[in-house]
Amino acid sequence: MRLPAVLLALLMVPATLLSQDQTVRIRAATVIDGTGKTLRNATIVVRGSKITSIETASAGVATYDLATMTVIPGMIDVHSHLGWHFDKDGRYAARRGTPAEEILYSAENAYVTLMAGFTTIQSPGQANDVELRDAIARGLFPGPRVLTSIRQLNEGSGTPDEIRTKVQQLKKDGADVVKIFASASIRDGGKQTMTSAQLEAACGEAKAQGLRTMVHAHSPESIKASVDAGCDQIEHGVFADEPTLKLMADKGVYFDPNVGVVLQNYLRNKAKYLGIGNYNEEGFAYMEKGLALNATMIKKAVATPNLKMVLGTDAVAGAHGHNADEIVERVRQGNQKPMDAIISATSLAARSMRLDKTIGTLAVGYDADLVALDGDPLADITAVTRVAFVMKGGKVYKHIAPATTR
Ligand SMILES: [Zn+2]
Repeated sequence: MRLPAVLLALLMVPATLLSQDQTVRIRAATVIDGTGKTLRNATIVVRGSKITSIETASAGVATYDLATMTVIPGMIDVHSHLGWHFDKDGRYAARRGTPAEEILYSAENAYVTLMAGFTTIQSPGQANDVELRDAIARGLFPGPRVLTSIRQLNEGSGTPDEIRTKVQQLKKDGADVVKIFASASIRDGGKQTMTSAQLEAACGEAKAQGLRTMVHAHSPESIKASVDAGCDQIEHGVFADEPTLKLMADKGVYFDPNVGVVLQNYLRNKAKYLGIGNYNEEGFAYMEKGLALNATMIKKAVATPNLKMVLGTDAVAGAHGHNADEIVERVRQGNQKPMDAIISATSLAARSMRLDKTIGTLAVGYDADLVALDGDPLADITAVTRVAFVMKGGKVYKHIAPATTR
């Protein structure tokens, strides 16, 4: 079901119409709680920003009767670049606009991400994320909750001591997570770039500051060096092999492979990127090969016992709002069970962000972040791309009435 934007806007319930203490009852055919449980004919009761009860076979009148739909927790993308956009000339713009233009592009990406059912994202990260995060948190501007690294660390970030100082500054500047580049881009072959000493300084100091670390790493050596350095989460991992996947599982390191959105988006939008930086023909050839490498890797990752695989897209310019394609492709290419894919995008993603006491699960006391899907994702995973209703923190941001004819 795809409705024209104008109609969609008319059907939206303005968030401001709902007062903070109003009780809202949302009834749905199926509720998937985010931890693996499924309820039939359930009513979720929300007061203010929290879920106050979940009733089955309730006779009460529903504020929103989502009849045939499936309600799941608001989805979480642990790796999305809200600041990436195409410019007025239709080409990828690496933050070349005025500050006002740049923040508005970020705001647009935040809006479409929320409309796609993602109520929390983690940005690995840029300076104006701080203002964006704080503006959304004020509660009027529609967007997902934002967690940001503000800046990144890489092989050029200096000596171990200099890296420690940089991590301390990130903490002072309000970073939620530290983003580290341990390997080159897939467009440059993905080899390890930072030394083990640099990685130990970055991840060790982050731990001392109470900050989590997410590490861009493609090659097995760069992943192993990051795990050995005590880093918390590995991003991408295109070349991750069985021993490397098992190592992450054994050490309890989160793994965020990106197999369904980012490369497909680059290839689809090749003309908009080509000729800028390492977006050259060689880089695109690497990315084309990356599709097959990802398909092989994700099957192995899904088959690795106890691997804590979280949902992240690496969404860049052109990809925002398509985040749920990652869930679909993990099921399609990786043979992941639909329920496991949903858990990875909800309660497990929340746990990776240390937010598992407040979001990612539909249960009493949790923030009322929930989305309704047109269909049953356990039977047809593409239902995660058909988001008809979005509530974040008890406010409704999207509500498309069910189609009367199909
Ligand atoms: Zn990224």
